[in-house]
Amino acid sequence: MRSIPDNLQAVKERIAGAARAAGRDPATVTLLAVSKTHAPALIRQAYDAGQRAFGENYLQEALDKMAQLGELALEWHLLGPLQSNKTRAVAERFDWVHTVDREKVARRLAQQRPAALAPLNVLVQVNISGEASKSGVAPADVATLAAALAAMKKLRLRGLMAIPEPGAPQSRYREIGDLFRGLRSEFGLDTLSLGMSDDMEAAIAEGSTLVRIGTAIFGERSKVRDAA
Ligand SMILES: *Cc1c(COP(=O)(O)O)cnc(C)c1O
Repeated sequence: MRSIPDNLQAVKERIAGAARAAGRDPATVTLLAVSKTHAPALIRQAYDAGQRAFGENYLQEALDKMAQLGELALEWHLLGPLQSNKTRAVAERFDWVHTVDREKVARRLAQQRPAALAPLNVLVQVNISGEASKSGVAPADVATLAAALAAMKKLRLRGLMAIPEPGAPQSRYREIGDLFRGLRSEFGLDTLSLGMSDDMEAAIAEGSTLVRIGTAIFGERSKVRDAA
């Protein structure tokens, strides 16, 4: 495997190429480095190469890393499913949550967000692939949840997030892109979190503004840890 700085550079070139191919400014696509299962030392290497935004799936693992990297000015994004009994630490420690799919959980996040911190940035996770995934709200229910979130003062609704099933056709990416564009002006959205190591080009072609990239930056994850 090449070094993390080299991988980051290669990913940025892929993003820029995909953006240009879609007639978009590469600067409109943010790179989120997904560091789950990887050691804090690797996050530090990415930080030294200029990366600031990191995504984690497992709460305890993320809190441990935050404690070890506390002196770095990092932006933390939660990508994993969120249990309603674990919202407090998320509200206190994260900058973004990509996986909001229930009003009850959102309400707890809003209530528990410390007054001294800026509103928590949230995305509605959309279940774009139907039965293939259990997380996320159905496309038909997104506007209702978005309206509820938009009214919560300590949350800042930024947009939508989706995980198309592996090998999904381009039309799946277009569906989520269309859903995002349909709600964008009503709710002042600016973020479509879509695309991973294997499908960032398909996502950027349909309007993704944030790609979540793990493997292409940090290498393969160990399967054992992944199952946690
Ligand atoms: C793990 C994960 C990623 C990163 O996937 P890669 O294929 O390693 O780039 C992106 N998004 C979510 C929600 C993830 O859980």
